[in-house]
Amino acid sequence: MTESTQQPVPSTATSEPLRILITGSAGFIGSHLVERFLNEGHTVIGVDNYISGQRSNTELFQEHPRFTFIEADVSYGIPYEGEKLDWVMHFASPASPPHYQQFPVETLMVGAQGTQNGLELAHAHGAGFFLASTSEVYGDPLVHPQPETYWGNVNPIGVRSCYDEAKRYAEAITMAYHRSRGVNIRIIRIFNTYGPRMRPDDGRVVTNFIHQSLSGKGLTVYGDGYQTRSFQYIDDLAEGISRLMRVAYHLPVNLGNPDEYTIMQFAQEIKDLIDPKAEIIFNDMPQDDPKQRKPDISLAKNLIDWQPTISLSSGLGNVIKLFID
Ligand code: NAD
Ligand code: UDP
Repeated sequence: MTESTQQPVPSTATSEPLRILITGSAGFIGSHLVERFLNEGHTVIGVDNYISGQRSNTELFQEHPRFTFIEADVSYGIPYEGEKLDWVMHFASPASPPHYQQFPVETLMVGAQGTQNGLELAHAHGAGFFLASTSEVYGDPLVHPQPETYWGNVNPIGVRSCYDEAKRYAEAITMAYHRSRGVNIRIIRIFNTYGPRMRPDDGRVVTNFIHQSLSGKGLTVYGDGYQTRSFQYIDDLAEGISRLMRVAYHLPVNLGNPDEYTIMQFAQEIKDLIDPKAEIIFNDMPQDDPKQRKPDISLAKNLIDWQPTISLSSGLGNVIKLFID
């Protein structure tokens, strides 16, 4: 696309000022979107119930003149009565496996009712609706790497199903509002993303390994450590989101880093950066843990001229610095 036009791909940095409501604004990804959009001159309304987020992420922006915050559970409605919105961005949902398995009903509700409440709000305002979906819609994938055309391999009743099926339903209802009510939608499938402001007790592999090696504990590798993941730095994700908002494309788009690591290789990377002598402790493999995961990002490359630019070692360096400070 860009090759033919020779124009830089637009992002929200170059759009007129927008009014953007973000659910999950006190979470890891939500708080980075709040920051980016405020810095770009937009007005942001954050909504969160803190089920997995942090109050400190709201406090960062509460003095900002273009930021307002509503404490609410979006599964029961989004109590916004302000001026016309340009975007509703639905990022609310527990995302770490220990969090969503602790709150399976709430996770299903925010994927179902929460998504529908966001779609209704967007429809009422004539606003765009942006859904944060996930690589988990591919389940334990039998196709590798995963293109958007792959329908997935999900256990509908396993311990991860509260998250995976909630997101699959969220995608389905988002497409339904687009097809039957004309809502201007975007759907992204986010692959493992990390960065500053993740909760240290979040339970995901990045925070666990950093926390463990900094505190002299062994790194807990689940299973044999041969399962794979790829790790995307938050700024790369935010850039992809921002570009996709400016392109009228309504089917799902993968956003992730295609550099694939086994969990053992990832543990070694953390050891090299923090403590080469750190021990590895092998724990049981959790049920239905995907054996491999790597995004096919051809679509995002063609559509929005996007690919990750931040290496694992430099992204991890930023996070480790903050854990030490
Ligand atoms: P997070 O847990 O840090 O943030 C989610 C936020 O949503 C939290 O602040 C939480 O309190 C809030 N929330 C949850 N349910 C809510 C409800 N009913 N009402 C209001 N607020 C609610 O997680 P994250 O990593 O920032 O993930 C954000 C979004 O991106 C999620 O939708 C997640 O599924 C998606 N995602 C994240 C990743 C990743 O690697 N971080 C990967 C794939 C998809
Ligand atoms: N994992 C691990 N040790 C940990 C936490 C996670 O070996 O302390 C593994 C987990 O089994 C999975 C991968 O790391 O294979 C990524 O887990 P995470 O919870 O970060 O996210 P997922 O991709 O499973 O949603």
